[in-house]
Order: sequence, then structure tokens, then C-alpha cells
Amino acid sequence: MSHLNLIAEELPLLHITSRPSVIMTEGSGMYLRDAQQRTYLDFASGWAVNSLGHSPAVLQKAISEQAAKLVHASPAFYSDVLLQFATELTKEAGMDKVFFASSGAEANESAIKLARKYGQLYLKGANEIITLENSFHGRTLATMSATGKKHWKPLFEPKAGGFTHVPTNNIDALTKAITKRTCAVMVEPIQGEGGIRELTEDYVLALRELCNKHRLLLIFDEIQTGMGRTGAMFAFQHWNIVPDILTLGKGIGSGFPLSAMLTRKHFDLFEAGEQGGTYCGSALACAAGLAVLREIKQQNLPYHADQMGRLIKQGLKQLVTSTNAPISNIRGKGLLLAFTMPTGTAPQLASLCLEEGLIINAPNPSTIRLCPALIIETDHINKMLAIVQTSLGKLNFGQ
Ligand SMILES: *Cc1c(COP(=O)(O)O)cnc(C)c1O
Repeated sequence: MSHLNLIAEELPLLHITSRPSVIMTEGSGMYLRDAQQRTYLDFASGWAVNSLGHSPAVLQKAISEQAAKLVHASPAFYSDVLLQFATELTKEAGMDKVFFASSGAEANESAIKLARKYGQLYLKGANEIITLENSFHGRTLATMSATGKKHWKPLFEPKAGGFTHVPTNNIDALTKAITKRTCAVMVEPIQGEGGIRELTEDYVLALRELCNKHRLLLIFDEIQTGMGRTGAMFAFQHWNIVPDILTLGKGIGSGFPLSAMLTRKHFDLFEAGEQGGTYCGSALACAAGLAVLREIKQQNLPYHADQMGRLIKQGLKQLVTSTNAPISNIRGKGLLLAFTMPTGTAPQLASLCLEEGLIINAPNPSTIRLCPALIIETDHINKMLAIVQTSLGKLNFGQ
């Protein structure tokens, strides 16, 4: 199939998004290759998913060896690799218990259910969860309801009840929103889909204290920020606090569908049958996750992400100085970065870059998000900066 005859309406795919007329066929390290043998330097990594790059050797080996041994026993049995992965991941996160699933939304659903269970047992049936405006927690009905995107409000009504949204980094608004019905607060340490907006240190510390004071569970959705992405293994480590529930996804499998919800011993509250799923903790997924976790640690990728992230920020600032490009608010931590452009130009820049062989992502009309694999090197950064500069030159900013 060549890219010339790709008409979305004629393809047997349900329409869920607009895709460029490119057919990806291979991936290796920092690069994707399409059916016409064009290569693309990937600074999106499937939205912060391919933490070790495309088809990393350790993942190939882990998946193929495990596939030959045991793919899936049943969620009703332990497997050797399930126990090993659970042990290493909980230890790494300083948590006691983990529940594995396949997608981020499922991990968050699990967190929501656990918080409600906790409210039922310990807070006289309190079941409301406070989340932040502009947040993103997934696309199942409950996680869409938890999500704070304004334009999602009218969708798929009626939503799951029990969610209150408050402005980000505003501790007064949060304090006011807490009632007898509140059982938890759920936040992304850095809002990813929301355009890379960081929670401030003051806010995070106050949030932890407030949750302690009111006995609310603090849920950190680290599906995008976890597994080394922000320059620490988990973003909560930047602030020296520990959430009560931690959810992970995306980078945890480096492309293999895997997610996790972690918590402390005293929140191990589900009765048998209240939570689960056909693929929860499958041997193949655990082998993939174990290989990814070990590689991230062995290569000290959180540290590398921090170093490379600093270089990208520096390079972007230099580019702004030397070209006068209308780029502002270069932000983010580690390799979860973004910058602001005049409204409407970000998607244009992303498609111009794609034509030049660079994949960057515009989560909204004024934001470019950069979240390359954690294995990125200086050469890739220089190449990205050169392509962004060329593409900026072709953009008409209406001046
Ligand atoms: C991507 C994402 C999710 C949803 O994960 P899926 O695997 O798409 O279900 C939830 N929360 C955050 C912060 C995310 O970035």
C-alpha cells in the first residue's frame, strides 16, 4: 500500500482521529520507518510510551523468550514472572502492593474504585474524588468523568458521578472543595495531555498535608510522568512526598500494553472479585515490564533523561535567541517538555516537521510537546533542533 491512496473514509477503520497519510512499518531506537522507506526521528514516542525507543533489544528478547515459555496462565494463578515483577516494581516505588492491567485508564479506574472502597470502609461512605481542571485521566467513562477537559463536559452524558474539578495549583480552591463526601484527590504531577503544566512544589506539599489532615487518599496519576520520564524514576520523588496510590502506564511497557496501580499495605482493601480482569498480570506483559524496569535502572535512564532534557531546553532557548521565533514558555521536566507558539501554529509546525522527517506532537493549537525515548543522544537533539528551525522558517506567523 502506498500513502497516495489512503482515504480515511474508505478504510475499514472506525474513525477516532485524523491521521497523516503515512503507513508506519518499522521502528528502531529513535526512528520510525514508513512503507516508502522514509525515516522519521521520533520525538513523540507514541505519547511518551516507547521509553526505551522502538523495538529495543531487551524487550524483543524478553517478549520472545517469555512467549516461548508461557504467554498467559490465568489471573487466577501466580506466575514466576508476575511475582518477580511485582516484587521489583513495588520496591522501586516504595510501595507494598500492585495491581497490573493493560491500559492507563484501567489503572486509574482501579484507583478510583479503591478510593471509593476506602471511603465506604473508613469515611462513612464518602465517594467523591477531587481532580484538577485541564487534567487527563483516560477515556473510559469513569476516567473521562475524572478528566478536567472543558470540551469533554457535554460528551457521553450521563457521566459517572462523584468527581469535582478545581483549578490547578490553587490550594484555597482545593480546600474549599473538600466536603464530608470527599474520599480522595487525584492529580497528574505534570499535566501531560493538558500541555505540560507542572504542579508547583508548594502546591504538592500543601496537597499532601491537606490529604493527611482530612484522611483523604492522594492519588498520583503518573501514567505519563512515571518510569524515568521526568528525570526521576517517579515524579513524586522530586518533592520528597509519597502518594497513597500511584498509577503507571505508557513507558512502563515501552510499547507493550501494560499498566499498574500501586499502593500501601493498609489500602489493600478489595474483596475477592471486586477488581480484576482477564489480562491482569499476564506472564507476557510482566516479562515485558520487568525487562523495561531493569533496563531503565541499569542504564540510569532517569538521570540521562534529566541531562538530555536540559540540553533540549537550552537548544530551544538558543534557537529563539538566534531566529527570533515566536516560541515562549519552554517548560517541563526531564524528557516531558513543551513550548508555546501563537495559537493555531503548533499543529502546522508539527505537520511541517513530519514532512521533514521529524515527529513532534501538538496536544493543543498553541503547544508543542516533546517526549522522546529516554535513550536519546545529543545527535538526535541537534537534528531535531535543525528540523524545527527549518520548519519554523516555512511557517507564516501573520507578521
Ligand atoms: C495516557 C494517559 C492516561 C490513559 O492511559 P491509556 O493507556 O490511554 O488508557 C491516563 N492518565 C494520563 C496522565 C495519561 O497520560
